[in-house]
Amino acid sequence: MIKLTSSTKVLGLVGHPIKHSLSPVMQNAALEACGLDMCYLAFDVQPGSLEGAVRGMISLGFAGFNVTIPYKESVAKLLEEIDEEARLIGAVNTVVIRKGIAYGYNTDGRGFLESLREKGVKVKDKKIVVIGAGGASKAVTVAAALAGAQKVTLANRTLGRAQEIAEQMSTLGVDSKAVALNGKDLRNELAEADIVINATPVGMFPEDNVDPIVDIDCVRPDTVVCDLVYRPRNTSLLKAARRKGCITVGGLGMLLYQGAEAFRLFTGVKPPVDVMRRALEVGL
Ligand code: NAP
Repeated sequence: MIKLTSSTKVLGLVGHPIKHSLSPVMQNAALEACGLDMCYLAFDVQPGSLEGAVRGMISLGFAGFNVTIPYKESVAKLLEEIDEEARLIGAVNTVVIRKGIAYGYNTDGRGFLESLREKGVKVKDKKIVVIGAGGASKAVTVAAALAGAQKVTLANRTLGRAQEIAEQMSTLGVDSKAVALNGKDLRNELAEADIVINATPVGMFPEDNVDPIVDIDCVRPDTVVCDLVYRPRNTSLLKAARRKGCITVGGLGMLLYQGAEAFRLFTGVKPPVDVMRRALEVGL
């Protein structure tokens, strides 16, 4: 147990709602394992109160904080500086406060890339299909573009949102297009894909007993299939992909490594990834 004293540095998480977040157990386990005089607390910030919460954390000398739904986009305008990846994603999930100045980062995309790397999967020169065009899709798509993906195809229920991300990918020099969620165009793209990513909540608990959002018949056995959903860990998509012989990557790794990267930014200390993973597994 971390011993709280008058010199303990505080880290926070702001969101609404916040009750089910696993970040406090993961981050506190890491702080304790590293023997740091810091603690991590979750704050349910009511709509309309974000600015006051951020100003308060800066005034109180917090070392930093994470940001989750629904504030990842709106927090940006309250910060002094935003790093390039967070700016491209249009969302901030980690804020570090140095000498009273708030710096915004987004570790979601890097967390996803690290979850691939631990399975020996690289995105450089790969053809990627991303299903969904919300915040998670944007984070993994920008990270894949910055890591040298050859082609990124976005498929979404609301085609216009996929088109917006595809246009941004093109400005980053990536071959990119948007296709409808069901249809021949998506089937053709899936057949060509090296990596397929579900970035929608389809398959998430408690509605986990559903058909996979990806028609797995269209995917090759050497395609890597990823699901950003982490509850359950073994989604219907991952089960179907494994039956086909595909390498699969679940959402827990992204959750772990976005937290590990945030820990490194907050503390400057190498994150104890195994401790953080165990805390998440127990929390789940
Ligand atoms: P979001 O911003 O609300 O976007 C959701 C996306 O899913 C939208 O593109 C939406 O399409 C699509 N969608 C929702 N319900 C659908 C359905 N029934 N059929 C087809 N498409 C549907 O959410 P998000 O923040 O991107 O999160 C997406 C998923 O990623 C969630 O399951 C979340 O838990 C997971 N996630 C995981 C991590 C991690 O660390 N592993 C991090 C972030 C998010 P429309 O545009 O048509 O509405």
